[in-house]
Amino acid sequence: KHTLENKVAIVTGAASGIGKAAALRLAKSGAKLALIDLKEENAATVKKEIENDGGEAIVLDTDVSNPQEVEASIQEVVERWGSLDFVFANAGINGRVAPIEDLTADDWDQTLTTNLKSTFLTVKFAIPHMKNHGGSIVITSSINGNRTFSGFGMSAYSSSKAGQMAFGKMAALELAEYQIRVNIICPGAIKTNIGENTFSDQNNLNKVEIPIEYPEGNQPLEHGAGSPEQVADLIHFLASDESSHITGTELYIDGAESLL
Ligand code: NAD
Repeated sequence: KHTLENKVAIVTGAASGIGKAAALRLAKSGAKLALIDLKEENAATVKKEIENDGGEAIVLDTDVSNPQEVEASIQEVVERWGSLDFVFANAGINGRVAPIEDLTADDWDQTLTTNLKSTFLTVKFAIPHMKNHGGSIVITSSINGNRTFSGFGMSAYSSSKAGQMAFGKMAALELAEYQIRVNIICPGAIKTNIGENTFSDQNNLNKVEIPIEYPEGNQPLEHGAGSPEQVADLIHFLASDESSHITGTELYIDGAESLL
């Protein structure tokens, strides 16, 4: 029942959606949770929920695309709990949804920095603290990393998600000698708040299909989208020793959406 007793876990994007559900799931299993997010207040309610359930958590107000902040926050986790066993590099945004010719260089940078550079930084600064004893890292990519499922206008997002897949595989190879496993999850549509942070304007709305509404029946297995809790169960499995021989893989969790 308490498969993660005394393990120390970092979850980025822990204030909402997939990250929040994963944090709650890991804490239920005995892990100590470092909740990293920009939305400090929302993260604080996740911390409360964990503590009310008898668990332990801290909130670290961190922009995952900022190297100094990521390094300092991971340092703080290790100083507090003396170890680091599991890292869930999950924070991300849809970014601006627009046709390529309308997308600005700044739009591109924002999406790639928030989703891909952040993944590199989170893994980079975790490595020194996991090298001696091994551990597990999971990166949230998307089925969009292979092709775009959600309509046009997501070239930057899809590129960032494809980059995360490539980075995750390189990291798995490079870190195998330290017994650090690295896996990539590829969710299909999951019911979260991610659409709220999607930047688009009226002109673009007329030109592209905005993937904010998840149409009923877009996944063969579900009537609609999956839930963050379903993803959290996969994260728990990948954090635990039950997945001890799984590394460098892309795990699809999409109700077969990617087969359509
Ligand atoms: P969400 O918006 O509910 O949660 C994302 C969290 O990340 C938010 O709390 C946000 O504050 C945080 N965040 C954003 N930028 C940040 C930054 N710079 N620093 C720190 N925190 C930051 O969205 P979600 O759907 O739970 O998304 C989680 C991950 O899942 C993302 O990487 C997303 O691309 C991926 N994903 C989502 C879906 C889906 O359908 N919801 C599908 C495939 C992949």
